[in-house]
Amino acid sequence: MEEFRDPFVLPPSVDREKFHEFISRAAQVVGIMNIMVISDPSQFSKQDYMDSSKSHDMFHVLEKEEFLSSAVVMPRQVPDVQDMMRLANEFEIPVWPFSTGRNIGYGGAAPRVRGSVALDLGRHMNRILEVNTDAAYALVEPGVSYFDLHDYLVKNNLRKDVWMDVPDLGGGSLIGNTLERGIGYTPYGDHWMMHCGLEVVLPDGSLIRTGMGALPNPQADKNKSPHEQEWNKSWQLFNYGFGPYNDGIFSQSSLGVVVKMGVSLMMNPGGFQSYLITFPRNEDLHKIVEIMRPLRISLVIQNAPKLESILVAAALAGPRTKYTSSEKLLDDQELDNIAEQLNLGRWNLYGALYGPQVVRDSLWSVIKSSFGNIPGAKFFFLEDRPDDLAMQTRNTTFQGIPTISELEWVNWLPNGSHLFFSPIAPVTGDEAQAQYQLTRQLVQEHGFDFIGSFLVGLREMHHIVCIVFDRKDDESRRRAYTLIKTLIAAAAARGWGEYRAHLALMDEIAGTYSFNDNAQMKLNEKLKNALDPKGILAPGKNGVWPANYKKEEWVMPH
Ligand code: ADP
Repeated sequence: MEEFRDPFVLPPSVDREKFHEFISRAAQVVGIMNIMVISDPSQFSKQDYMDSSKSHDMFHVLEKEEFLSSAVVMPRQVPDVQDMMRLANEFEIPVWPFSTGRNIGYGGAAPRVRGSVALDLGRHMNRILEVNTDAAYALVEPGVSYFDLHDYLVKNNLRKDVWMDVPDLGGGSLIGNTLERGIGYTPYGDHWMMHCGLEVVLPDGSLIRTGMGALPNPQADKNKSPHEQEWNKSWQLFNYGFGPYNDGIFSQSSLGVVVKMGVSLMMNPGGFQSYLITFPRNEDLHKIVEIMRPLRISLVIQNAPKLESILVAAALAGPRTKYTSSEKLLDDQELDNIAEQLNLGRWNLYGALYGPQVVRDSLWSVIKSSFGNIPGAKFFFLEDRPDDLAMQTRNTTFQGIPTISELEWVNWLPNGSHLFFSPIAPVTGDEAQAQYQLTRQLVQEHGFDFIGSFLVGLREMHHIVCIVFDRKDDESRRRAYTLIKTLIAAAAARGWGEYRAHLALMDEIAGTYSFNDNAQMKLNEKLKNALDPKGILAPGKNGVWPANYKKEEWVMPH
């Protein structure tokens, strides 16, 4: 008798005998306790962010079973990951690595190819290997979440020395979020920019360290397995090392499994003050963005500020029914009323000042006088708004303290679920205005209220449009899916591309990056086929299909 039950879905072109043989061999690698075959729907009913699913997308826009693993394998250490790569090659079974699987809005832990075997790296490989407060960096394994690193800094009384950056939700991992090029809101908000040094298992099972990590530490004990060897002291200090800079090919990619990553930390800035500036009119958007650009590029605005349309804070403060009993979309008059009710503007800019009082006072005087040119602009600090959840949340996030309060806005609708549409644009009033008009119009044409924010990185804006739908309502899901596809095409026609994508949209978005007859995709495919000739690692990730998959049969919609 087989030790494991049959999976609900098998990997492609794999029969149940082969699957069971693979799983038994995987059990020899990781131990029987570290295998979970996904055999019946009760195993993919999880919806809770903090106790998240490891096999399906909790915020599914297509059927829940569309993106589903056959089994979850939990490696205990790096050699297990290496063995799993070798096994996957031997059986030609696709594996899908993730760290904590909380990549919600983009697919969570679910694989692109139905029936893939999930590699849950975070379950056991969750050590904080080093925190260096002099040079301000940490070295972590995949399972280290923002909450974990924060707890470590607090318990060891290290926040007096260093701060970290966090994204909107703190339950995800540093490695997962960074590889996906996620963002946060302190001066270290560009997570990919702030990583330094990777240790990676390649699809053939070999292990590399990038950058200065490739230079052995002379004191390292050569008797130890390579993943345990003491690392070069400059690994987390200088990203580039010598020769081609390879790190980029491991982000948003299917070319390696990252098992260690260095992350730069901020020095404790010696003082912090969050602020909110509200702007009363919808038309103020143009001016706000024009004022913001030089302030941000010159670092007078030190962090990535968040410029939100009114419904973000409104949705954080309560469900839609708190504001209207009508099913009809909210019109401008109603949005003005909500803004007034919440003592907010139609646009609300959340930012922060870092440094000693004298530095903050100087920066604030420039910021205040610049935005003061917009009639009706109001300026607030936290103490002015003691009951404002949005302000409290930003005040916490902007000083690198993780929370999960930001997730509240998905409850705008019952059974609220969300997709992110995230195009990049230059920081100009014209572009912001045009992007806002186009996206709002399409969002509304598809029967949704517009909820969106502009996050100003440095020279560009990430526009994050939150499509909140009811996941238990097929019609609502269908509309959300049609909407996002329409948005992708309409944005590409204007020269706007997305920085990150849900599983269901990776092909679509990859297809828009088509300069010179898809030359970049051809390069990505060449790399994929060279490093992973059997196409076992995350096939289809970000639209890159290995040669042994007939692409035309796999791209969505199929
Ligand atoms: P989060 O850390 O936000 O929970 P996930 O663990 O869900 O993020 O990871 C998001 C995506 O990033 C995964 O679906 C996978 O494609 C990629 N990824 C995450 N961790 C790794 C890793 N350690 N190695 C390779 N790819 C990874």
